[in-house]
Amino acid sequence: MIPVCICGGCGRTIEKEFIYCPWCGVSKISAMSEDDKMEAIFNRLEKLQKDNRNEKIEKMSSTLDDLKRELDSLVLCSEMHK
Ligand SMILES: [Zn+2]
Repeated sequence: MIPVCICGGCGRTIEKEFIYCPWCGVSKISAMSEDDKMEAIFNRLEKLQKDNRNEKIEKMSSTLDDLKRELDSLVLCSEMHK
């Protein structure tokens, strides 16, 4: 169950973690209390960091794949020169 709230701009239901309404683009921030603002910004930062980390891991694993391929071809090469 996704936590939702009502947009102050258009009255539609939007996911609570959205900072902007996807329907009308109204920022939820202005309708929030200070605590909610901080929480929303913090959640967003946390999500960005998580995305960033996933991206890094993906990049690392593709680098590992490349290295493995390189190693395979080296091994193949040395086998041929025996
Ligand atoms: Zn809206």
